[in-house]
Amino acid sequence: MRRLLAGFVVGGLLSVSGVTRADDRPKGPDEDGTKPALTRIAGEGILNSRAYQYLTELSDDVGSRVTGSPAERKSEEWAAAKMKAMGLENVHLEKYTIWKGWTRGTAEAQLLSPTPHRLHVDAMGWTGSTAAGGAEGDVVTVNLFDIDAEVKNVSRLKEKIVLVTQSGKPKKNFMLLFATFGDFLKAAHDAGAIAVIGGQGGSKSAGMNLTHTGILGFDTDYAIPVVSMTAEDQGQLERFIARGITPRIRINVQNTLTTGPAETANVVGEIRGREHPEEILVVGGHLDSWDLAQGTTDNGSGTATTLGAADAILRSGQKPRRTIRFVLFTGEEQGLDGSFAYMKQHAAEIENHLGDLILDEGQGPVTDLMLGGRDDLIPALEPFVASLGFVKTLKVNDKVESGTDTLPFSIAGLPGINMNQDTADYKYTHHSAADALEAQKPEVLTQNTTIMALTAFWIADRPERLASPWPAERTAKMLRQQGEYEELKAFNLWPYGELGAEPPKKQ
Ligand SMILES: [Zn+2]
Repeated sequence: MRRLLAGFVVGGLLSVSGVTRADDRPKGPDEDGTKPALTRIAGEGILNSRAYQYLTELSDDVGSRVTGSPAERKSEEWAAAKMKAMGLENVHLEKYTIWKGWTRGTAEAQLLSPTPHRLHVDAMGWTGSTAAGGAEGDVVTVNLFDIDAEVKNVSRLKEKIVLVTQSGKPKKNFMLLFATFGDFLKAAHDAGAIAVIGGQGGSKSAGMNLTHTGILGFDTDYAIPVVSMTAEDQGQLERFIARGITPRIRINVQNTLTTGPAETANVVGEIRGREHPEEILVVGGHLDSWDLAQGTTDNGSGTATTLGAADAILRSGQKPRRTIRFVLFTGEEQGLDGSFAYMKQHAAEIENHLGDLILDEGQGPVTDLMLGGRDDLIPALEPFVASLGFVKTLKVNDKVESGTDTLPFSIAGLPGINMNQDTADYKYTHHSAADALEAQKPEVLTQNTTIMALTAFWIADRPERLASPWPAERTAKMLRQQGEYEELKAFNLWPYGELGAEPPKKQ
C-alpha cells in the first residue's frame, strides 16, 4: 500500500516560489535550493562528459574481467587510478574472497549424425569439464518447465548429452526455475550424464548465432560441463528430435576451478559531504564482467556511468551535504558477492546509509527509477524527476530489482534504487561475444551518466535526509509483498525467518 508522506517534513525551509500549498509536501530542485548546483553538474555531464572515454578504455585496453581473474584484478587498478586522477577522496580497494575462482578453457562440439557439422557452444561459468579429449553421446531432452519432475527422473540421462528445452507453460517464475535448475544439474551429474546444453536458468540463446555464458546459481559451481548453444544450432537439434531422429554429438569442454577461494575487491572513492559526511549514498555499477567479449554493456556501461557521474560532479565544483560513495562492485556475476561483502564490511555504518543507486540494465536509455521496495519515497522523488523533464522523462516506482547490486540494500530495508533502462538489444549482448563497444551509443551513455550524477547529487544534497533503513518487520513484509520471499529462500538469502509472514494489517 502506497503511503503518503508519513513523517516527511521539510524542516524550516520556506517555499521560495511562494506557492501556497501545504508546506510539508515534498520539494524538488526548484524549491529546495539544489537547482544551481544541479545546473552546473548537468552542464559538465552533457558537454564535458568523460563517460564514453572511460568505457572505451575499459572495453579496449582492460577488456573482459571475470571476478578473481588477473584481468579483473587489473581492472581494479585501472578504476582506482581513474578515481584518483579525477580527484575523488579516500580511494581504496576493499578486498574480499569468493568461494572459488574459475578459468574458461576450450569448448567444442560436433554433430555426428544425422548431418555432421560443427556446433557453436561456450561453457557456462563455474562449470566443469568432460573427460580429456571429450565424449560422445546421444541427445535427450529435458523440459525446463517441468524441471521438478525431471530432477526425479535423471537415471535415463546416464551417458547422454542433455538438451534443455521449454515446452508448455512454466509452473513457476524464472528465478525459482533458476534455483531448481541448479538442483537438476547436480542430479544429472550424479546420474552420469556427459554434459548439459542450456543457458542461465536453463534458458535458450537469443539468436544471431550468439551464445550466452553466465553463472548457474548464487556462489555455486557445478562439476558437470554445461554449455550455451546458439539458438540456430539448438533449433536444428530440436527439429530432428521432433521428427523422431536422435542426434549424436561429440563434445569436449575443458575448464579449471581453483581448489580454494579467489581474492577480489570492490573499488571505492568518495565525495565527502560538507555537512553530514557520516551520512552516505552509495552510487555504482559492477566492474566484473564475463569473458566472451569486452563486457561493455554488462556492466562497463554502469562502470563508465558511475565514473562519469563522479567526474561531472567534481568538475562542477559543487559539494553535497552528505557523502556520495562511488563503489564499483566485483563478484556481481557470481551472486552479487561484492555488494553482499560491502554490507558485511560496512555493517557498523549501514544505519547511516541513504541507499544505493545502480545502473546495470545494459546499453539503453534510463526510463525509470525503481526504489527497491521503498514506496514511502515515491512522493519525494516525483518533483525531482519532474525537474529533469527536458533531459529525459523518467517514471518512479517502488519495485525491487533482485538481479543486481540493489538487492542487498533492499534486503537491509534501504532503497536499492535501480536505474531501469529501455534496452532491447541487451538480449543479444548479454554475456555474449557481441558485448563490445559497438553496442553502446555514446549519446545514450552521456545522458544516463548525467541522470546518475543529478540523481546522486540531489539525494545527497537535499535539505532532508531521503531515507533511513526500515525496521526488519516492515522490510520483511515488503519483500514478501513484492514476491521476493520464495526466491531469496531458494538461494539461502532470506534473513528474516518468519518475520512479516502474517497477513498485512489495514492501514
Ligand atoms: Zn550486470
